[in-house]
Amino acid sequence: MIASPLLEHLAGYAAGRWLASRSSPGLAVHNPATGESLAMVSASSDADVRLAIDQAAAVVTTPAPLRQRRAWLEAIAQRLLGRQEELARLIALENGKPLRESRAEVEYAAGFFNFFAATIEFLEPRELPAPIRGCAWTVRQRPAGVVGLITPWNFPLAMLAKKLAAALGAGCAVVAKPAEQTPLTAIAFWHLLGALDLPPGLANLVLGDPAPIGRVLCTHPAVRVVSFTGSTEVGKLLAAQGAPHLKRLTLELGGNAPFLVFADAPLEPAADALLANKFRAGGQTCVCANRVLVQREVCAAFADRVAERVRRLRVGDGLSADTDVGPLIDRAAFDKVASHVADALARGARRLVGFDPPRPAHEWGAFYPPTVLVDVTRDMRLCREETFGPVVAIAPFDSETEALALANGTGAGLAAYLFTADGERAERAIQQLEFGHVGWNTATGPTPEAPFGGFKQSGYGREGGLEGLLEFCEPQTVPHALPPGLKP
Ligand code: NAP
Repeated sequence: MIASPLLEHLAGYAAGRWLASRSSPGLAVHNPATGESLAMVSASSDADVRLAIDQAAAVVTTPAPLRQRRAWLEAIAQRLLGRQEELARLIALENGKPLRESRAEVEYAAGFFNFFAATIEFLEPRELPAPIRGCAWTVRQRPAGVVGLITPWNFPLAMLAKKLAAALGAGCAVVAKPAEQTPLTAIAFWHLLGALDLPPGLANLVLGDPAPIGRVLCTHPAVRVVSFTGSTEVGKLLAAQGAPHLKRLTLELGGNAPFLVFADAPLEPAADALLANKFRAGGQTCVCANRVLVQREVCAAFADRVAERVRRLRVGDGLSADTDVGPLIDRAAFDKVASHVADALARGARRLVGFDPPRPAHEWGAFYPPTVLVDVTRDMRLCREETFGPVVAIAPFDSETEALALANGTGAGLAAYLFTADGERAERAIQQLEFGHVGWNTATGPTPEAPFGGFKQSGYGREGGLEGLLEFCEPQTVPHALPPGLKP
């Protein structure tokens, strides 16, 4: 069992206190690399969830001034960075990703609090420059109210942080539900928040069975916004549940990122960028390249460079210093990756790197060998669906028109990457790619300072940037009649 100074309590948090522990039903948390039982976490009851919402609704009626919110955001960032090592250890233990990635996740998470602290003046009331219809006009950014946050396991800290930082910055009160497989990082985060003297009810954490919690958040009249990151399937379900209540949603859903390499691109940096992008979190990120589309004349040369790099990757426990790629989150993830590879091989793909690993005997220990496939075609499952694993799928193309049609030939529209030395081609492509994030000669993912989100079935709304803050605001317009002598 895990021991951590940040895990004194293994339960949710509502109304400024830890919720009572219950023996059942609880959430069993395992290390996905070893199967070690890390903790049994107490699930929140329906009454706990309603208490959290009620307390949030009570506290949000008097939003804190901007300077107070800035101080909270700065303090949270400092606390996260002050416990970086311990938080990184917890992320590596319950998620399986390598420690150096876990450390980077803590910095990334803190970055959202620092960014919104630094830009919070953006929410000051804005006066229109000249009177209109005899009135002075002011636009205020009011807090949306109580907001529900639902997050996945692949970034146990960062996915919570990006939502929480924006929501607290906007003056909202929060009821957050992290993924069942990675609740420990969230509990540790709330341990740090608990020491901050936030008003009771401002930041609540509920844990447990997702369906009933999601339903309450989507239907409760006090909850004004639900911000969800996860699968497109669950995103659609939440949208349907919230629709009769006209619930406002921010949906950060699945991707199917194309990675385009034109013949004029320098191949070595493109291969380096692909490796850094594709194998982060073992290929389990929404911005991981899922389809690598390479101009035919350089396809074999590029595949060789990628294969040479992938052969050097070391697979293992995230806690080992020399691990590059940790385990998949569970056996279901393993089965999906294995079935995508089997389908591709059956349809004519060739495997340059990798092998068929034995199916894990348990839910845990789902290590999948880094794999490179070539001669991939659009009918294969790994082109049509998000594979979410350490598999590089390389397909050739002949023309720019074909490349862009292949890239856009998916329901997803989250991230895309484009490698070309031709600026005019890049400009044409960026204008045509239907993706919310397009990297040109880089495969870097989102940053706190810029908006991030999807087109098409990758969802709507944005996280990060000033746009991310506005997701949790309600603009209120106040025309104020001027004294008669001042009327134009
Ligand atoms: P998921 O199954 O949709 O789970 C995400 C969250 O939703 C978890 O907290 C989960 O709870 C909860 N959930 C599950 N069923 C629910 C329901 N009926 N009602 C309310 N909540 C429910 O997604 P996942 O497979 O864990 O995450 C991977 C997906 O997330 C991938 O598709 C990936 O691309 C996407 N993602 C997108 C972004 C982005 O920014 N666009 C970022 C990261 C990941 P439990 O854990 O308790 O089941």
